[in-house]
Amino acid sequence: MTRQDITMQDFAKGELPASAKIVIIGGGIVGASVAYHLGAMGLTDVLLVERGRLTSGSTWHAAGLVGQLRTSANITQLLGYSVALYDRLEAETGQATGWKRNGGLRLACNAARWTEVKRQATTARSFGLEMELLSPKEAQDLWPLMQVDDVVGAAFLPTDGQASPSDITAALAKGARMKGVTIREGVSVTGIKVEDGAVVAIETDQGRIACDKLVICAGQWSRELGRLAGVNIPLVSVQHQYLITEPIPGVTPDLPTLRDPDRLTYWKEEVGGLVMGGYEPNPKLWDVDPLPAEFAFQLLDNDLDHFEPIMGEALGRVPALAEAGIRQFINGPESFTPDGNFILGEAPEVKNIFVGAGFNAFGIAAGGGAGMALAEWVAKGAPPFDLWPVDIQRFGRNHRDLGFIRARTLEAYARHYTMAWPFEEAEAGRPLRRSPLYDRLKAAGAVFGEKLGFERANWFADPALGEEPHDRYSYERPNWFAAVGREHRAAREAAVLFDQTSFAKFELVGRDAESALSYIAANDVAKPVGHLVYTQMLNDAGGIECDLTVSRLAEDRYFIVTGTGFATHDFHWIARGVPAGMDARLSDVTSAYATLVLMGPKAREILAAISRDDLSHTAFPFGRARGISAGGCPVLALRVTYVGELGFELHVPTEFALTLFDALMAAGQPHGLTLAGYRAIESLRLEKGYRAWGAEIGPDHSPLVAGLGAFVKLKKPLDFRGRPALEAQAAKPLPRLLAAFTTEDPDIVLLGRETIYRDGVRVGWLASGGFGYTIGRPIGYGYVRRTEGVDRDFVLSGRYELEVAGERVAATAHLDPLYDPKGEKIRA
Ligand SMILES: Cc1cc2nc3c(=O)[nH]c(=O)nc-3n(C[C@H](O)[C@H](O)[C@H](O)COP(=O)(O)OP(=O)(O)OC[C@H]3O[C@@H](n4cnc5c(N)ncnc54)[C@H](O)[C@@H]3O)c2cc1C
Repeated sequence: MTRQDITMQDFAKGELPASAKIVIIGGGIVGASVAYHLGAMGLTDVLLVERGRLTSGSTWHAAGLVGQLRTSANITQLLGYSVALYDRLEAETGQATGWKRNGGLRLACNAARWTEVKRQATTARSFGLEMELLSPKEAQDLWPLMQVDDVVGAAFLPTDGQASPSDITAALAKGARMKGVTIREGVSVTGIKVEDGAVVAIETDQGRIACDKLVICAGQWSRELGRLAGVNIPLVSVQHQYLITEPIPGVTPDLPTLRDPDRLTYWKEEVGGLVMGGYEPNPKLWDVDPLPAEFAFQLLDNDLDHFEPIMGEALGRVPALAEAGIRQFINGPESFTPDGNFILGEAPEVKNIFVGAGFNAFGIAAGGGAGMALAEWVAKGAPPFDLWPVDIQRFGRNHRDLGFIRARTLEAYARHYTMAWPFEEAEAGRPLRRSPLYDRLKAAGAVFGEKLGFERANWFADPALGEEPHDRYSYERPNWFAAVGREHRAAREAAVLFDQTSFAKFELVGRDAESALSYIAANDVAKPVGHLVYTQMLNDAGGIECDLTVSRLAEDRYFIVTGTGFATHDFHWIARGVPAGMDARLSDVTSAYATLVLMGPKAREILAAISRDDLSHTAFPFGRARGISAGGCPVLALRVTYVGELGFELHVPTEFALTLFDALMAAGQPHGLTLAGYRAIESLRLEKGYRAWGAEIGPDHSPLVAGLGAFVKLKKPLDFRGRPALEAQAAKPLPRLLAAFTTEDPDIVLLGRETIYRDGVRVGWLASGGFGYTIGRPIGYGYVRRTEGVDRDFVLSGRYELEVAGERVAATAHLDPLYDPKGEKIRA
């Protein structure tokens, strides 16, 4: 019998098959969970290969805490799924899992942390998890060994728990086998074969295995494996230490897990003793290249000096630790990522290669849910719900450099338990990508934020007013509040200039550009040359995958502008969405153009002062794209706005950017032209009701529920992706509607995730929050949900309250824009 003749059944007896529909690399908790869930979906031509033995990577030495609450509702839901799965896995498979729901405690030791914890409790409530707020004494009653002199309060999540990582993985693997999936240990993957942009096979130390789909779940080795196929998986290996004590009197099996972020430590019970680990502020890489293949069931050398500060903090919390015998020190390497979130989904570079890796020391907590989601992604081509915060497509070109990835990852690790401030910016690896205007803006007092490596002015400090050009984060009004208010008002009353060079810009060119884009876009983009259209692009369920503008520059050429952070995602959505056989090629022209956005009632006068082109409303109305000359520069001018004012988005070849900028600033001076940043954009767009992808809109929401029905060509007999799903949704009451909320009290700070109550009943949470300086009120957006469906009357007729950091405050719901509802300003 040759290898080609071997079937999966033979294979189960020990031979390697020549092919499998789906191959999973890695037998840690994540690979085992993907295998389990593919099996549960009835897919059996599935092969998991593991180089060593199951769990031999990071999984076997994990501490096993299983927490659920994250800042995203869907990621929280994923972790909640893990808990529900672990609840039943032992009974289902007959394999012990060590799982117990002993609850999770989180301490707060200062006023700011207490605010953070109270806001987390509200977030939990928004997402349907009950999290109780406790006094120090009540917390101590649950965890008698700790001293609470410095504790201000605590939160308790009763459904959190802990598990034995190896046993959970064994149970998942057993469950997978019971459902017909094949698992082979001792098989090392050495190569990945790609043809025509799609995976076709893997090479192993025991031969080639053809496959239709490949799932890389190889933990910290995933980055190297991805490189074999040209797939970038930005993660690095970091050392993580914890200790296990001998039994300590008073430690009972029902002791909740404990997180003590102000002391950088976590705790759990283990065989009558305690596990204590922490996140050092100066983390250490496992700096070997390549990572050794033979590193199975191994640990790194302890580094007690490095652990010492954590130990000191821990002794302050649990004095009994001083007397306890230490059974073992663990120093295990684990993969961490630049933003502290794991990596899931189909690789943008190669079709049918999927990734589940980079679990940032919460792979046991996430493993069940991540495996479920990834299995569905692999089997059906789409995740079960929006997983943008963990989607591999959130990364960009900046994430290809190991130096950048390392710097950012170590920073994320060090910040694991520090305060998660609203609007906090990363600092490591900056500046990396700079617009040509960077130095001009910096000299003008710009305080920069960063997205996909791009430096972007968030706001401008005025030293004459005593403002320092630095962010000072707070849960109250931050130090930039007044400055952003000035920029906001300048946009409404005179004019502002935003440097939005970081916008992702694409060109779709080809004989079939119109037909292709017409199928991919939900709005009618088959417009004459010179027209600009705002459109969504939908998935098959009618959810919004992209939200962008397209301008027709020629019969066969469209210019597409989308958000900085969506460069990878939107590019691949469009490129892969072009129907087979059509001539339409997408190229990324982001770096070719700088983008200066001039907005405000004086915008036309300012631009007209440096251009001979006719910029009147008749000659250049809203929704048009024109090539003009301004300040001596060739400019693609778009009449569009994201702030609700008359204005122009000016795309200029990069080398002309400074000239155009200087000309605009000089011409704008008599009109009160002001520089403004992204925080002003956010305030302005919230007031105007413009949606932000990743906040209020995304793959889970259709344009109908998001109030964007007017931008969909449903009334025209034109086919487009997602149309059948939208028609089905339109035929029934909508399950939810996006509404704006304002509070009477102007001093309330809305940040997003506050719970929405309608007539005392929880109906949703805020997807975004901010402040509208023109209306003088806090603004939040959130979906009002009801099982029987909702309509405008239902939304507008309720009596609303928002829960903010545990307190309920009166609020009003709105369905029309809070500013210029008729859009008169933008059409001036
Ligand atoms: C000290 C420490 C404490 C932790 N505590 C917790 C905790 O309390 N709670 C929690 O949720 N998480 C915790 N974690 C994190 C958790 O251990 C990981 O997130 C999780 O185990 C990752 O699982 P994985 O399947 O992605 O990777 P791994 O378990 O590393 O599995 C990857 C597998 O891929 C295999 N492989 C690699 N290359 C190849 C190849 N070429 N061919 C074939 N196979 C290959 C490896 O042999 C390995 O078995 C902790 C981690 C550490 C280090």
